[in-house]
Amino acid sequence: MIQKFLSQRKYLTKSPGQTKKIGMILAKKILKTKLKREKAFVLGLKGDLGGGKTTFLQGFAKGLGIRQKILSPTFIIIRRFKINNLTMKQLNNFYHIDCYRIKNPKEIFNLGFKKNILNPHNIVAIEWADRIRKILPKSVIFLDFEFVDKKTRKITVKYRG
Ligand code: ADP
Ligand code: MG
Repeated sequence: MIQKFLSQRKYLTKSPGQTKKIGMILAKKILKTKLKREKAFVLGLKGDLGGGKTTFLQGFAKGLGIRQKILSPTFIIIRRFKINNLTMKQLNNFYHIDCYRIKNPKEIFNLGFKKNILNPHNIVAIEWADRIRKILPKSVIFLDFEFVDKKTRKITVKYRG
């Protein structure tokens, strides 16, 4: 199921709504995937400023059943949201991390990053993941966002398993 999403590698989206929809579809697939994991489920988002990373995560969070709005964190780097999903009781927390302001990957360790990515009950989505590349876990779903024109974005999915 999720393999299918990951094998279809490129998505062109023509509106913020379409980008959210792709995020929502991925979230629903993750909730349905009963893989045994030993660590958190990690998404690494990278690419252009205004490429749609936060927009994508708004749809993603909605797909996880989260009602709160996902914002672009300016000063808060890590935000935690509770997942209340009846079919996937194993997934309890969604962490939204934004590394835009991070200069040294080590900064994020002080914010509990290691614990977050080790806990198999977590889904962790990291914007500007390339800024902390060295400390990312081995298995990450990378999503690369490119600015095509005012309304068009290209999303490239790459799974590093
Ligand atoms: P990032 O987090 O990558 O910096 P944001 O999601 O915060 O990007 O911002 C994307 C901006 O581009 C928003 O203002 C959004 O309305 C606009 N936009 C226009 N077309 C699209 C599209 N197809 N997908 C996502 N965002 C789009
Ligand atoms: Mg953003």
